[in-house]
Amino acid sequence: MDVNFVPTTCPYCGTGCTFNLVVKDGKVVGSIPNTRSPVNEGKTCPKGTYAYEFVNSEERLTVPLIKKDGKFVEATWDEAIALIAEKFKSYKPDEIACLSSARTSNEDNYAMMKLARGAFKTRHIDHCARLCHSSTVAGLAAVFGSGAMTNSILDIPEAKCVFIIGSNTFEQHPLIGRRVMQAKKNGAKIIYADPRYTPTAKQADLYMQFKSGSDVAILNCMMHEIIKNGWEAKEFIENRTKGFEDLKAVVMKDDYTPENVEQISGIPADQLRQAAEWFAKSESSAILYSMGITQHTVGVDNVKSVAHLQMVTGNLGRPGTGVNALRGQNNVQGACDMGALPVVFTGYQKVIDEAAHKKFSDAWGFPDGIAAPENGYEVTTMINVLSDNPGELKALYIMGENPMLSDPNIDHAKHSLENLEFMVVQDIFLTETAQMADVVLPATCYAEKDGTQTSTERRVQKWRKAQDPPGEAKLDWKILAMVGAAMGYADQFAWETSEDVFNEIAELTPSYHGMNYERLEKPEALHWPCPEVDHPGTPILHTQKFATPDGLGIMSGIEWKPPAEVPDEEYPFVLTTGRCIWHWHTGTMTRNSPTLDHEVPTGWIEINVDDAAELGIEDKEMIKAITRRGEVEVPAKVTKDIMKGVMFMPFHFAECPANRLTNDALDPIAKIPEFKACAVKVEKITEA
Ligand code: SF4
Repeated sequence: MDVNFVPTTCPYCGTGCTFNLVVKDGKVVGSIPNTRSPVNEGKTCPKGTYAYEFVNSEERLTVPLIKKDGKFVEATWDEAIALIAEKFKSYKPDEIACLSSARTSNEDNYAMMKLARGAFKTRHIDHCARLCHSSTVAGLAAVFGSGAMTNSILDIPEAKCVFIIGSNTFEQHPLIGRRVMQAKKNGAKIIYADPRYTPTAKQADLYMQFKSGSDVAILNCMMHEIIKNGWEAKEFIENRTKGFEDLKAVVMKDDYTPENVEQISGIPADQLRQAAEWFAKSESSAILYSMGITQHTVGVDNVKSVAHLQMVTGNLGRPGTGVNALRGQNNVQGACDMGALPVVFTGYQKVIDEAAHKKFSDAWGFPDGIAAPENGYEVTTMINVLSDNPGELKALYIMGENPMLSDPNIDHAKHSLENLEFMVVQDIFLTETAQMADVVLPATCYAEKDGTQTSTERRVQKWRKAQDPPGEAKLDWKILAMVGAAMGYADQFAWETSEDVFNEIAELTPSYHGMNYERLEKPEALHWPCPEVDHPGTPILHTQKFATPDGLGIMSGIEWKPPAEVPDEEYPFVLTTGRCIWHWHTGTMTRNSPTLDHEVPTGWIEINVDDAAELGIEDKEMIKAITRRGEVEVPAKVTKDIMKGVMFMPFHFAECPANRLTNDALDPIAKIPEFKACAVKVEKITEA
């Protein structure tokens, strides 16, 4: 028997843990710890431990499928690619849109960006970062000039105070949770703010339970207390920032006293005072946040407020500090870095910048040019255009995304996708979205390819091929290159290996310029920016100055605004959504992993015990959850761990899809939907 151990990087959350895949006779059969990675030191969470199980699932796609008379029939690659090229050639550039993927590699995302802008010549490319951290990218770029996590996972244990808001870190990023526990053992105070008493809350020294949607009020209140008591970092504010007086004029209003914010948030005033004091007086305080902050119609305001708190207290540019935006999917950072966004090429080089446009146009050498130097549509805008202006967008190419479960108000999203003339889905399983496609292309998963992914802390790490793909499945970038060649651009897509693609990325991307596959072989890999081949990478950003034109961090006054939809007589509760430790995103991989699916086989709605008693609802009873957008039948989970008046649903489950209920109202800048707060009612199911 032939047994190999292939080190690779976890395909689930943005932490970037590594492990070894166990390969017997050419097939992945298990995983064992890889202790060489400094990120996780051989530990993995349940998802990482069982990340091998879906690889050889019988449900994997193995051949191209073309829909004929409403049914999929198997096709050859030649047939499928020829049909795609013929269709895409028949549309004008602005009639085409592309969705790239936070699950696939940097190389795959770069290939999709090049196919969209170079071969299809469309401006409309985006991916699901829009739905999770687009407010981080926009908010942090506005205040620091760079939209990424400022610090490294490894320096969290050096914090003397860790403030976690809007992140159930111990379930969603468990190996970052481990670093928080190391900080606690080193004497740090842990402050946690969340509407649910989660496993993260159980480890906190101070747990503040709050009403979803009151984040800006809470953060303004903490700054109010800090400035009132003279605890602000005067030298840092003076030397490294501007706009403090504008910020002060807002946060010092009476609206943001602890007593008034108690009314808005539900957090007792004394807890708000305690949090402000611990945070400001510690010698190094780190903030960790995730989608509880970003997925709001005020997502950008929330992110900026987090950054303001760090500037007011001088907690930037040093170990144990920072604005630590915990990215959701394994390569959502990388997909953004690769320009799978409607406004930038790789490395956040703006498409509207003439020099950047010329640089990519010249380097790629498409004889008939590339997409116009204009911003394109965000995925949320694409969905609205499809429903509101049918015929404007006609064709959509989706790689590794499942909007039929991940988008808000999915009945609306379905209606929008039905207005397309032609849709291609490239994936590893026949997802809910793939079932609606005209052509489905079988792709490869992380265990079947060499490539790179970029974790939440900007660490670029390698995937290594452990087995051959199933059936006729192909590498994502190779499929995209085949489409590019069939469109008439064989020279522009003439890569032979994943390394060739990466070298092209490095050539065109200043922050990746010093990286190559050889350097990334090291267990610690490299953090961007890494501008030259002798540069060691940059674990901590903004040590001396910010990435703004004058090097100063930018503060401004931000007023709290309530969510777009608040409870009323008809819909009296707040619904918030999220994930659980056993499943991932739309369940495409975890629900095809028997161990994970066995642990949590379906969804639920959490209801506070007092609310349940008033409504006469029992634990595990099947009930109806209803919002203005739709209704879902789902089992009740009656618990003390959620605030009265608030309900929670995980969004992984197609049979009780939380996103049928969520609100598709958008942040005006980031265009991120308000997944975290909408008005809901629940009803008992009565026999017909
Ligand atoms: Fe994978 Fe994230 Fe778990 Fe690490 S913490 S094993 S990266 S899912």
